[in-house]
Amino acid sequence: MTFSDFNFDPQLFESLQSMGYTKPTPIQEQTIPLILNHKDLIACAQTGTGKTASYLLPILQHISVTDKKYTKALILAPTRELAQQIDQQVEGLAYFVGISSIAVYGGGDGIIYEQQRRAMIDGVDIIIATPGRLIAQLSSGVIKLNHLEYLVLDEADRMLDMGFYEDILRIISYIPEKRQTLLFSATMPPKIRTLANTILKDPQQVNIALSQPAAGISQQVYMTFDNQKVKLISSLLKAGDYKSVLIFASRKETVKELNKTLKREGIKAEAFHSDLEQEQRETILRAFKSRQLPVIIGTDVLSRGIDVEGISLVINFDVPPDPEDYIHRIGRTARAETTGTAITFVNEKDQRKFSFIENLIGKEIPRIPLPAELGDGPIYQPGIKRASNFKHKKPWVKKKA
Ligand code: AMP
Repeated sequence: MTFSDFNFDPQLFESLQSMGYTKPTPIQEQTIPLILNHKDLIACAQTGTGKTASYLLPILQHISVTDKKYTKALILAPTRELAQQIDQQVEGLAYFVGISSIAVYGGGDGIIYEQQRRAMIDGVDIIIATPGRLIAQLSSGVIKLNHLEYLVLDEADRMLDMGFYEDILRIISYIPEKRQTLLFSATMPPKIRTLANTILKDPQQVNIALSQPAAGISQQVYMTFDNQKVKLISSLLKAGDYKSVLIFASRKETVKELNKTLKREGIKAEAFHSDLEQEQRETILRAFKSRQLPVIIGTDVLSRGIDVEGISLVINFDVPPDPEDYIHRIGRTARAETTGTAITFVNEKDQRKFSFIENLIGKEIPRIPLPAELGDGPIYQPGIKRASNFKHKKPWVKKKA
């Protein structure tokens, strides 16, 4: 199948080509005909599959042949970064078509708020928004979405994890019932099914299997005690010639701590987490993309949706809580058929979680011995239950005889 099979408007086709898209990805092959056919859709697919263009292309095609007086499409996304990235894809794909869009997200100053408001009042063709900020704008009463035809929920599972369920329903109360609704989610837990049953009409379903880590990624693991991790990271960073490194840690506190420690070690790094102002986050990402900043340390906020080419090394400072997050995290490297390295630190408590990852990817990740000066790491015994896994049991409370 090629893009010419979809009979897109010639200008849309031209934009597509200028973006370098030559062949539809599997999700695009499956969803584009359904969306063009006015079906509601529930699609299980992750970042990296081409899911954004799979809904943008048919929407852009439709808008390109209708009058452009009112807002026609609303795309809801969990984070500002994802909203901005979707907006950038609209800009690229609509370059020769003349379709307007705005990303509406919190965290900016009053001027940005006013710009977003103005664009929405003027009937921008496509709004891409995080739910909280959109509610704030809608409650002001001046923005009307009466002519909306498309509602897209991108990374719906993430939005529900972030507590946006009620906000989503409230937003829907502002838009016409007669619309096409497209729900995209990386996972399909029961709460997503409930949401889908509430807001979709007779949906078609598309599943793109969890993509395995790209073949170009060299995956490695070090068994380490916690007190060996920082020394190991600085020895890896100092020894290798890595231009672009992402370090993931599960907790914000660890991210901040690690950032301070690496800076003390003379490593140029920045921490990326939800406590930062919007502007600070953007500055960090810009510096990273332009190769002025070699290292970012972040929580899983970084792992989904962030589309940066050419990351040479991903380090998991700890094992991600959900095995699928491992694939998201290491998927930041070796994109577009390049190569990259993904290193995971596994302490004695994380060994069980790590064994689930190996089960998911169906292979054993090579163990690398620690540098001699760090001494021995823990022995790999994932079957052993560790005390810390059972914290909630309060061992100090004596059982009644
Ligand atoms: P997504 O899964 O939507 O985050 O897309 C991941 C990356 O793939 C983005 O950088 C897109 O620009 C790119 N992409 C999407 N569709 C195609 C395609 N058909 N051919 C080449 N690249 C694509």
